[in-house]
Amino acid sequence: MSHEGIRMVSAEQARNEQEGQRDLSHEAIEPVKVRVHKTDGKGMEIDWKDGHHSAWTFAWLRNACPCATCNEERRADGRQPGAPKAAPKNLLPMYEPPVRPQTVTPVGRYAISFHWTDGHESGIYSWDYLRRTCQCDACRSAGLKIPPQD
Ligand SMILES: [Zn+2]
Ligand SMILES: [Zn+2]
Repeated sequence: MSHEGIRMVSAEQARNEQEGQRDLSHEAIEPVKVRVHKTDGKGMEIDWKDGHHSAWTFAWLRNACPCATCNEERRADGRQPGAPKAAPKNLLPMYEPPVRPQTVTPVGRYAISFHWTDGHESGIYSWDYLRRTCQCDACRSAGLKIPPQD
């Protein structure tokens, strides 16, 4: 029933993960403006102190939830943070209302957490994590690796 959380990491993977943790400057992970478009369900935008602008959809953020449970699920499925779960093959497609946050709570000075409409609320999204998962073309093509969150 329980599964053992043993993680085999090759030397190459370990190196890649370390590169992913290359430090971002303080300005790069300090938000000057955070906009959460709860009402129209569009997503979240952040203006960073270094002048960069980031935006994410709520669906992406929900699928990138950095809590231990979601990390473990993604690891088991081989999914990247933000990638949607594969639809179950044998079931008829069901309508699922798009997920959005019910409430958004600052966590200290370093992070933000969401209480999602699907009931989940254990993910703590640090500014560092959000900046590393910036969805703009420049950041995506730079391939900033996301360090493991647990
Ligand atoms: Zn989670
Ligand atoms: Zn970016």
